[in-house]
Amino acid sequence: MSDTLIGQDSVVTIHYTLTNDEGKVLDSSNGRAPLAYLQGHGNIVSGLEKELAGKAVGAKLSVDVPASEGYGERTGPGPQQVKKTEFGKDADKLREGMPFQAESSDGNVVTLWVAKIEGAWVHIDTNHPLAGQTLHFDVEIVDIRAATAEELAHGHVHGPHGHNH
Ligand code: ZN
Repeated sequence: MSDTLIGQDSVVTIHYTLTNDEGKVLDSSNGRAPLAYLQGHGNIVSGLEKELAGKAVGAKLSVDVPASEGYGERTGPGPQQVKKTEFGKDADKLREGMPFQAESSDGNVVTLWVAKIEGAWVHIDTNHPLAGQTLHFDVEIVDIRAATAEELAHGHVHGPHGHNH
């Protein structure tokens, strides 16, 4: 049905381009398959999800998302330097901008990001690489459908543009 609007639990397929304040393209689905996500499950940043609610297939939007509704404000002391050797055999897999899991001193699993790799040192940060930034999205809605029961149970989309498992 082409009159379907995006609501809670819609499976939404979009083409998107993400730019920063300077107009630099940070991510884009151009030349790739579009992105499918499950509305209302935190699959995409909250500021964009909010603006997509109620829209129809074919709609084109430009959305400015403040850091607080994107990847959060920057917090904490900033990147800390750790010797690459501390990562053991995983050291060669490290890439700037990639997330990894670590155990904090109180035993909780936390997500950290590789901010920079500099010789024998890795700069690790508790902030997402895009934290503190206003995000500018240009979005075109390609498809909207209802989620299956299995997708709702998993909290993400299955099929060609979603998870394959
Ligand atoms: Zn799944």
